[in-house]
Amino acid sequence: MTDHTENTMEKIISLAKRRGFIYQGSEIYGGLAGTWDYGPLGVTLKNNIKNLWWKMFVEDREDMYGLDAALLMNQNVWKASGHVAGFSDPLVEDTKNQKRYRADHVLEENSVDPKGMTVLQMNEIIKEKGIKSPDGNPLGEVRQFNMMLKTHIGPTEDENSVTYLRPETAGGIFVNFKNVVDSFHPKLPFGIAQIGKAFRNEISPGNFIFRLRELEQMEIEYFIRPEQWQDSFEHWKQQMNKWIEAIGLTKNKVHEVEISDKDRAHYSKRTIDFEFEYPFGQKELYGLAYRTDYDLTKHTEASNVDLTYYDEDTKERFTPHVIEPSMGVDRTILAVLLSAYTEDELGGETRAYLKLSPAVAPVKVAVFPLLKNKPQLVEKAREVYMNLRKNMSGVVFDDNGNIGKRYRRQDEIGTPWCITIDFDTLEDNTVTVRDRDSGEQKRVKIEELTFNF
Ligand code: ATP
Repeated sequence: MTDHTENTMEKIISLAKRRGFIYQGSEIYGGLAGTWDYGPLGVTLKNNIKNLWWKMFVEDREDMYGLDAALLMNQNVWKASGHVAGFSDPLVEDTKNQKRYRADHVLEENSVDPKGMTVLQMNEIIKEKGIKSPDGNPLGEVRQFNMMLKTHIGPTEDENSVTYLRPETAGGIFVNFKNVVDSFHPKLPFGIAQIGKAFRNEISPGNFIFRLRELEQMEIEYFIRPEQWQDSFEHWKQQMNKWIEAIGLTKNKVHEVEISDKDRAHYSKRTIDFEFEYPFGQKELYGLAYRTDYDLTKHTEASNVDLTYYDEDTKERFTPHVIEPSMGVDRTILAVLLSAYTEDELGGETRAYLKLSPAVAPVKVAVFPLLKNKPQLVEKAREVYMNLRKNMSGVVFDDNGNIGKRYRRQDEIGTPWCITIDFDTLEDNTVTVRDRDSGEQKRVKIEELTFNF
């Protein structure tokens, strides 16, 4: 494992760009803060992660229902959920150069713990301690800044046409609760899962793909009987840990942090943040919250549509409670890249490579002919390549440069296995399989090639 410093971020950002994982959004126009584009390898890595999540949490379970709701929703959804009134972060402005900052971040940088503080308290402490902006100028008054991206739908720009790009995927799940119940009559407990984009007008986006304005989430609302909440919470905590293992995150860099009563959202009876040790500090990776019956109750009140549940077995009607595991795709990718980034020495040379779990690696197997200018080798290599492609995804053919260069290139993008077709192959139908992490090569019969992940 490689120890991470601020420098690691630069190395990862540069590797991600050079190798086609992640590019700055709108780069040729100078970028757009808080947006990043996933390149050819990045989109595959991202899809592998999302597919693995979907398989583990939806397909492999009998109690889960998938959903893909619209990103644009009726503005009343966000009024009812409390986002219009309260989805905000504290904003403070440098009075000289008008640069804006998250007030809680400014306090943290000045060794003040802002957790649970009201705007009033933040203002008082800034005055009391004479806290200045990062540029050394006086700060203005702290105020709440709503983070939803507002837009208008249709040709008229008035109050009635206001809508928001969804700030989280959960809203789409709650408004479809009744639809899923009516279509499938699921027994409690059951969950609805969704993967999709969300938008937040973050005051200060940054740290690469950690804090974005356009992000992607993988969320589950798991509906339960109220008395089941503790067991269910434990179940989801374990599932999230299983997931963290499956994608190869460095286990001792993940910390479960119990959120105290004063710091929890008012509707939550228990919240755990899964924090990851990023090079810029230990910060939230995922959240797990017991949200009681808050959301379904609020949507019932606001929509006048009954979102209660009738239990056929007990003949009771009630509003189910909810356990919510919420996971960011982009923060997962950052944690995956950081966990995988390794520098070591191999064959007397230093190398930097991604020790990605084969389950998420964008390329699983690279097939090479030993020499590019020997048609027999190239033909045989292409045959092996085409046959492997029939049965698995993530197989590439590479005949560029010498073998050493190809290994380096594949190591850098995290390819677990490289197959080389050489002159012996033509004689005995065996190939060499090289292992990324150890660099060891084994001779294997072509018909016995198998890759487990
Ligand atoms: P933070 O405190 O870091 O702003 P949050 O508590 O607002 O995060 P949630 O509302 O719980 O985050 O969102 C659920 C998940 O979505 C987070 O655990 C994280 O993985 C992801 N997420 C939230 N905001 C962002 C963002 N701006 N950029 C990237 N991912 C995000």
